[in-house]
Amino acid sequence: MTTVLLHDETDTLAFGGLLGAELKGRQTLVFLNGDLGAGKTTLVRGVLRGVGFQGSTKSPTYTLVEPYELDGWVVYHFDLYRISDPEELEFIGVDEYLNQPNAASLIEWPERGAGWLPEPELVINLAYLSRGRELTMTGDSELIQHITQRWER
Ligand code: ADP
Ligand code: MG
Repeated sequence: MTTVLLHDETDTLAFGGLLGAELKGRQTLVFLNGDLGAGKTTLVRGVLRGVGFQGSTKSPTYTLVEPYELDGWVVYHFDLYRISDPEELEFIGVDEYLNQPNAASLIEWPERGAGWLPEPELVINLAYLSRGRELTMTGDSELIQHITQRWER
């Protein structure tokens, strides 16, 4: 498990930017865990900025998923907070999103989809500190190494 300290929102956005640069163009699945307000959506905004997405971004709290297309690569930002039953993922056709080549799916509240989501390549957890946030990562060790190497300045 790798730990990174994010002192403020700017750090969260910057770290998301590094993550985005690493993921760009790949088909991948990332889980984002952490309490409400921990910074999951902020991190995704950082990813989108980091890959050069210019438009506005909005939280998919009510829509479940928001797509962002850039250079033939798509980021699907999911927020499963409001689903009441994991089976809802079948209704929205989650497999088609996840199996799509040239698409990365970043999922907030993945535990709400338990049993209906495959193993992710990366799991990120955000936790409150008295000031800032602690980010921990598990999953693909090569990916984690690349990101943390670039984060250490
Ligand atoms: P979530 O999607 O996990 O519910 P949001 O990203 O919507 O959380 O909100 C996170 C809140 O915390 C925002 O107000 C954001 O400005 C703030 N924030 C993000 N990263 C940090 C950080 N590293 N330290 C302190 N505050 C942060
Ligand atoms: Mg959120």
